[in-house]
Amino acid sequence: MVPTFRYAGEKVVVMGLGKSGLSAAASLRASGADVAVWDDQPASLAQGAAKGFRTFDGAAPLSGVRAVVWSPGIPHTYPQPHSLATKARAQNIPLACDVDLLLEAQTDASVVGITGTNGKSTTTALTAHIFATAGRKVAAGGNIGIPALDLEPLGLGGTYVLELSSYQLELVPHLACETAVLLNITADHLDRHGGMDGYIAAKRRIFSHQRPPRVAIIGIDDPHCAALYDALRRDGLHTVWPISAKQAAPGGFHVQDGKLIDATGPRPTTIIDLTTVARLPGVHNWQNAAAAAAARASGISYDAIAEGMRTFPGLKHRQELVQQVANVSFVNDSKATNADAAEKALACYQNIYWIAGGRPKEGGIRSLAPLFGRIRHAFLIGEAADDFADTLDDQVPFALYEDMESAIAEAGAMALKDQLPGATVLLSPACASFDMFKSFEERGDRFRAEVLKLWPKREMSA
Ligand code: ADP
Repeated sequence: MVPTFRYAGEKVVVMGLGKSGLSAAASLRASGADVAVWDDQPASLAQGAAKGFRTFDGAAPLSGVRAVVWSPGIPHTYPQPHSLATKARAQNIPLACDVDLLLEAQTDASVVGITGTNGKSTTTALTAHIFATAGRKVAAGGNIGIPALDLEPLGLGGTYVLELSSYQLELVPHLACETAVLLNITADHLDRHGGMDGYIAAKRRIFSHQRPPRVAIIGIDDPHCAALYDALRRDGLHTVWPISAKQAAPGGFHVQDGKLIDATGPRPTTIIDLTTVARLPGVHNWQNAAAAAAARASGISYDAIAEGMRTFPGLKHRQELVQQVANVSFVNDSKATNADAAEKALACYQNIYWIAGGRPKEGGIRSLAPLFGRIRHAFLIGEAADDFADTLDDQVPFALYEDMESAIAEAGAMALKDQLPGATVLLSPACASFDMFKSFEERGDRFRAEVLKLWPKREMSA
C-alpha cells in the first residue's frame, strides 16, 4: 500500500466505494487522515460502513474538507453535474482520483502514462513486463484493475506504468508523466465528456505538464490522433514519437510485415519480428507493441524490449490461449463484449469454431460478415442467439446451446474431429455477459475452467 501522509490530520471525503475508492479510503486512514466515505448506492455505502469508515452525509456542507477523492466511474459534470462535485468546486475543494494521490505521494518515482480508446490494458501490462525484463523496479496499476494506492511505494529509481481512462484523466491534477502514450481515439463514452471534443480534450491531458524527457507517443492510424500528433509537434514542447501498425512512421515506431521498426534515429532498426510472438496476435496488438517501445524513452535496450515481448504472458480474457490439444487451440477472448472487439480476434485465425452470444449490443454481428468465411461453425448462447442465428443463416453453420459448457464440449469435439490446420475454438462473444454471468471475467474464467476440465493439461515429462 502507498501511504498518503500529505493528508494526515486532514478531513478527506472519499466519494464512490468501488475497488479504488475503498483502497483510497484505506490508505488515507492508515496514513492518519480523518476519512469520511460516501456512495449514492446504499449497498456500496453499507460496504464502506462495514469496513469501519465513518459515512459522510452527502447533503451536509463540506466545511473543513481538504479534498474529495472521486471515483472516476461516477459522473461529476456530464451528463448531469453531481451535487457533491458542484459543492466541492464552489468551495475550491479539489476533486481528484486515487491515481492523483499516488502521484502526490510518490513524486520521486517515474511515470509512464498510457491511454487510448482500445488496447490500454495490453499496452500497460506489456510495457511493465518490458521494464521488469530490463531489471527495473516497476509497478503497473490504475484502470487496469489494480487500484493505484494498492501498489508498492517505489520511490527514486522506480517507475509506475499507469493505465489512465478518460475519466481518470479528468481527475489527476498532479499528473506529470516522463513518457505519455495515446494509442488511438474512436467515439466512446461521449455522454460523460459532453461530446467528442470533450473526450479528445480528456485524452489530451495525458500530455499536460510532462516532466523531462517529455516523450509523447501517439498512434497516427486514426484521424483524431493524427491531428493531435500534428498539434503537439507544432507546439514543440515534447519529443513526439508517432506510432503506427499500418504505415511508415518517420521519427517514431511502426510495424511493417510484422517487423517492429524504430525509426527515431538516423538509421531504422528492426527490434523484433512480431509474427513470432504468439501472445501479441493481430494488427491491433502490433499497435500496442509499437506503443510499448516507449520503453526506449527510459533507456531500455532493444534486447530487453524484444525479450520482454517474447516472454509477455498476455492478459486474461484477451485472446488468452488457455489450452492446445493436438492442433486445436482454445482461446478465451471474453473481453470482446461488442462486435468491434470480436472482429479483432476473428481476423487472427483461419479455421474458427466460434462461441458467441450473450446480452446483445446495438447492431449485432452484421459488421462481421467479411470474416464469416473463417468460421467453420458457430456455437450460439445467451439472449443474442436467435438474432445471431438470423445473421449467420445460409453463410455459416450454427447451433444454439442452453449454456456455455455444452457449447464448449461440442465446439472442442468438432474441432478435434475435423483436424483442420490452425483450428481454434474461440470464445469471443461480441456481447455483454450479464444475461448468464456476473461479468466478462466470470465468463472467461468459466470458459478456461471448463476447457481444462474437458482437456486437462498434461504433466510435463522431465
Ligand atoms: P482496453 O484496456 O483499452 O479496454 P485491452 O488491452 O483490454 O484494451 O483490449 C481489449 C480489447 O480491445 C481486445 O480484446 C481487442 O479486441 C481490442 N484491442 C486491443 N488493442 C487494440 C488496439 N490497439 N486497437 C483496437 N482494438 C484493440
